[in-house]
Amino acid sequence: MIPEEQLIIAVDGPAGAGKSTIARLVAEKLGILYLDTGAMYRAIGLKALREGIDTRHEADISDMLQKTDLDIQFVNQEQRVFIDCQDVTRDIRTPAVSMAASDVSALPVVRKALVKIQRGIASRQPLILDGRDIGTYVLPDAPFKFFLTASANERAKRRLSDLQARGDQSSSLKEVQMDMEKRDRQDSERAFAPLRQADDAILVDTTNLTIDEVVDVLISKVSGR
Ligand code: C5P
Repeated sequence: MIPEEQLIIAVDGPAGAGKSTIARLVAEKLGILYLDTGAMYRAIGLKALREGIDTRHEADISDMLQKTDLDIQFVNQEQRVFIDCQDVTRDIRTPAVSMAASDVSALPVVRKALVKIQRGIASRQPLILDGRDIGTYVLPDAPFKFFLTASANERAKRRLSDLQARGDQSSSLKEVQMDMEKRDRQDSERAFAPLRQADDAILVDTTNLTIDEVVDVLISKVSGR
């Protein structure tokens, strides 16, 4: 077992692969914090949408970023995201914000700013964090790296039930799957730190596994069982 201060677990993978559900449970079991890095890109995407700024325009987004205060806090181990002192933790979970997050995340100026915050948080405590580029770019030396996937249909079903649980009854399975595939394509094809499995990451296909089974895979690798 590695010393606790080095316990960094990187979880990457496409949308809807179960990363956040799994990472949250693993964090609880190990008594460490969980950082959802997608929430940070979502917060920047949300602010751009609210201000009517083109989410693909690097100069305009860069200007906005300079006037933006993004803050991550952990309240009773739960992550809260603040933009300019406003708690946006709930507001960032809409399909429009998902797409805006993917757009702004392709811009190096945004990635550099957010990765700096992510590395700072990881330097201060044991952590499990999920995203697209954690094992390849943010923390390439992380001792534990996982890449979670599932079939596109299964991932769309999970995303739809997440949205429905949050009260969104307007999206259909087909729409969710199309949005998700577009976002994954955009995330995989961007030039800077694209979505990619790190060479030393353990691949876990979650299509036919229960949540508990996936959690067990991660815990057993981390604890050397
Ligand atoms: O994980 P989540 O679906 O909340 O992420 C929203 C978007 O943020 C992703 O589609 C991706 O474009 C971007 N993202 C990223 N790098 C990360 C985390 C998220 O580019 N580490």
